[in-house]
Amino acid sequence: MPLTDKFGRPITDLRISITDRCNYKCVYCRTGNEGALYGDLPFDDYFRMARVLVGMGVTKIRLTGGEPLLRKGVIDFVRELAKLRTPNNGHGDPLDIALTTNGHLLADLAQPLKTAGLSRVTVSMDAVDPDRFARITRVPNGYDHVLAGIRAARRGGLWPLKVNCVLMRGFNEDQVVPFGKFAREEGVTVRFIEFMPLEEDRTWSPNTVVTLDEILTRMAEYRPLVEIPHARSETARRYCFDDGVGEIGIIAPVSHPFCGHCSRIRITSDGKIRTCLFSVWDHDLHAQMRRGATDQELEDFIRGVIQKKEERHHIGEPDFVPASRTMVHIGG
Ligand code: SAM
Repeated sequence: MPLTDKFGRPITDLRISITDRCNYKCVYCRTGNEGALYGDLPFDDYFRMARVLVGMGVTKIRLTGGEPLLRKGVIDFVRELAKLRTPNNGHGDPLDIALTTNGHLLADLAQPLKTAGLSRVTVSMDAVDPDRFARITRVPNGYDHVLAGIRAARRGGLWPLKVNCVLMRGFNEDQVVPFGKFAREEGVTVRFIEFMPLEEDRTWSPNTVVTLDEILTRMAEYRPLVEIPHARSETARRYCFDDGVGEIGIIAPVSHPFCGHCSRIRITSDGKIRTCLFSVWDHDLHAQMRRGATDQELEDFIRGVIQKKEERHHIGEPDFVPASRTMVHIGG
């Protein structure tokens, strides 16, 4: 039976955070602290969770964090995941395995990750100017590493290659057009993400969000965009430039929420299931494993949790309650 929540949404997309440590301190995500708050688990434990969920209907797995490339053993973990097959009525298709990274360590790892079975990668990059990049990430000299990582991923065939940019007013809203040029020159899809209230510093307000409409207006000053039809389940609205060169996506969870098509669940680095980024509680899958649950008992636990998946988030509404964890400790 496919894994479906009580609103009829099929759950096919699993995100596993393999660490909540990060080597960047992006202003819209982290505070100035150094350490992990919740820690992480042995890869065998994540693998068992993934195997059970794939058996239940998950077809896509995205590794995230924290910064997933900080974790030694990530390549072997990808190799193990790549051996899993979706049930698909006995046909057994390979999984779509993706990774979200800040790209700092990607230049040397792109090719081995591809060889291990990674399908594609998304690199976060919030400015195409080294000084501005350093101001946002609060790390000196990161820009060149990330650019090298993006180029290595492209050379290594980690495709389609997406570059995610979170826009935050006062920091990088003027980077819209430079990123349009970057998409065209580097042959990558740049996706702008609206800033969500998931940051450690609690600086979010509606005024700090650079919305989909504003991004489109700013980009139109550079070149006209043409919308590309997209599947309802896709989170990004997609556009190409009028000459067909360069693709842009806009993920607008604040101004144009897409919760009605959400197909995701997340496992945190300490083995908790989160059914929504904005959940105010989580569900301890790893505790079930520690107490010796069988695979069938894990499956039953997961089915119960999925039925509690929230209908939608309440960002910007008077009854909004902040999520019980911030993005770096959930896994974006
Ligand atoms: N360290 C990796 C990276 O930088 O891509 C993976 C983890 S990071 C938490 C995953 C994604 O979440 C990144 O693309 C990041 O830009 C995005 N993100 C973090 N905080 C956010 C926020 N408050 N609003 C929107 N996106 C956010």
